Order: sequence, then C-alpha cells, then structure tokens
Amino acid sequence: MSISVGKIMGVKIRLHYTWFIIFVFITWTLAAFYMPDQYPGLTYEVYWITGLVSSIILFSSVLFHELFHTYFALKKGIPVPSITLFLFGGVTQIAEEPQDPGFEFKMAFAGPASSFLLSFIFGLAWLLALQLDLPPIITAPLNYGWLINALLGAFNLIPAFPMDGGRILRAAIWKLKKDLIVATRIASNAGGAIAYLFIFFGLFLILFDGLILGFWFILIGWFIKSGAEASLNQAIISQALSDVKVADIMTKEVHTISPNASILDVVENYFYKYKHGGFPVVDNGNLLGMLTTQDIRMVAKERWNVLQVRDVMTSSEKLVKSQPEEPVTDAFLKLSKRDIGRLPVVEDGKLVGIITRSDIMHIIRVKTELAVKK
Ligand SMILES: [Zn+2]
Repeated sequence: MSISVGKIMGVKIRLHYTWFIIFVFITWTLAAFYMPDQYPGLTYEVYWITGLVSSIILFSSVLFHELFHTYFALKKGIPVPSITLFLFGGVTQIAEEPQDPGFEFKMAFAGPASSFLLSFIFGLAWLLALQLDLPPIITAPLNYGWLINALLGAFNLIPAFPMDGGRILRAAIWKLKKDLIVATRIASNAGGAIAYLFIFFGLFLILFDGLILGFWFILIGWFIKSGAEASLNQAIISQALSDVKVADIMTKEVHTISPNASILDVVENYFYKYKHGGFPVVDNGNLLGMLTTQDIRMVAKERWNVLQVRDVMTSSEKLVKSQPEEPVTDAFLKLSKRDIGRLPVVEDGKLVGIITRSDIMHIIRVKTELAVKK
C-alpha cells in the first residue's frame, strides 16, 4: 500500500498510494484554478510551475510537521518505525503509547508549533520578495507556503483525537482525571462530535452550491471519525491487556485428539460434541499439529473413515504458536494478523494450553467495564 522513499533521523519515510493521487490532484487544482485566480494574466507554463512548486511545498511542510513529532518521540526514547504520507497528510507511527500526559502534550504540540514556525518563515520570505519586486513565479509559492502552513497548524489543532489538538485535549484530561482510558474516551467522543459537524456542514454546502468544498468537508469528517474510533479501540485494548500474560487467561484443560484417530471418529466425537472449530493433535504431550474444520473441508466425505487425523491436520511447523510467558497483546496481534481463531500454547514442544480470540475479547470486555466504573 505504500513505498519507501528514504530515511531521516533513522526513520523510514513512506508514501501511501493515495499520496500520488492527491499530489497530482492538488498540483492540478493549484495550476488550473488557484493560481490563475490569484494572479491573472500569466502564462500557462508559469501557472503549472507555480502549481507544482506549491504542491511540493505543501507536502514538504507536512513532512516537516511529522518530523517534529518524531524528533520529540526519539528524544524520549520512543521508537518511531516510519512516517507515512498519505491522502490527508502524514502519520507518524510510534511504537508505544506515551507514558505521561506532560510528554504527550509536548509531542502533540510540537507539530502545530512547527507548522506555525514554518508559516512565519515563509511569510517573511514572501514579504522580502515583494519588497524586492520579484515576479509571481517566486512570490506565489512563498505566499502559498505561509498560508498552507498556517492552515496545517490550525487544522491539526482541531480537538479531535487522534489529531494533535485531540492529543493535547487528551493529555489535559489525562492529567486532571489521572486515567488514560477515560481521557481517551472523552477526547475521541469530542472527535466524533466534530466529525459530524464537518459532515453536516459538508452536506449543507453541497445543497447550497459548494459541491467541491462540501465534498472535502465530508471526506475530512469521515477521516476524523474513523481515526477517533480506531484509536479509542487501540488505546482501550493496549491498556486493558498491558501486563496480562497468555498463561493468565489460556484454557489449560484442552480437548486433544490423537494422530491415529479417523476423521469420521473425531468429527462425531469432538467437532459435533464440543463447540470448538479446531483441536490440537497431541501424542505423548507433544504438539504434532492442529485439525480444524477448514482442514476437514478439504477432503471428500466418503474418505472420512479411511483417512487419519495425521493425514489431514496442519502440522506443527506450519502453525502459529504462543508461549505461556508471551504478552496477550502479542498473541492478539498474531490472531488478528492471520485472521485465525486460536493459538496452541507450547512450552518445550509440549502443549500446555490454548488461547482463543474469545478468551481475549472476554478479558478486554471485563477489564474495560471495571476500568470505567472507577
Ligand atoms: Zn501533527
């Protein structure tokens, strides 16, 4: 979905595929509409050059903004695997949630502050260029530079989590209430409300003659809304599962099946009887593989009585497994990434338990319910 274009401060810079679409779209909008409107009477070539340069200024400004967040994260020792530029700007991927409200505040504020600083620098350069009577091919991109950075700074200050303004809001509530989940919930509710305002305003504009602008407002509203929901879920999950190990919640009494049993036998005596979609295949305590309904579906029903479990199972080497000491967040990631329902838990080759998606959903639900009642 994205390509890598280099490294700054050891952080991978990536371009999402939507970036290319939006880069062309913005360059075209600037060259065909914005520049001719602001500076009438220039040549076609000048419009396209100023449009292209301004578009590059826009995306470099977004990168500059993201690099400021990155700088603060790295300084605090939080790893930053990558920065991805996409449709609406940039996303700095940090490897963990910030540890205290003061730091989150600083890191969030660094972005908009850097945009306002850049706006100020472009503004000075623009005024200087005007003084020197330089042509529009120079002044137009400089003018655009201060304007777009001021907008970037202001836009990111919208108090809708996970945007910078929402993070600042969350840090403030976090400091007051001393509870990250409660703070995240309030900040993302604010984000949801603001998202609806954007969407309704967009619809209003579409009804009353502002089709393109209205469309943008709806798109931004939708973007804020999905961001708010995703980050709330992520914050709740990572908070609820912090310091829970697989051994704490796994099922220890597991129904296992023998490699020598016939498929017909296990279907009738295990799959019909117990409500599981898969069973570990165990011999002398050693995990040999797993047999799931998907595996059985691959063989014709007439052969169920001749085939043995070992012929049909997914062998142990091919299985994704967990260990008792593994954090549940990691096990959850394995399940979600591969879209599987259960992981056998293995210690020294022996099966010691099984952990399922519903075990994890259960602990998340209980933990968050208890956390909110505080
Ligand atoms: Zn930012």
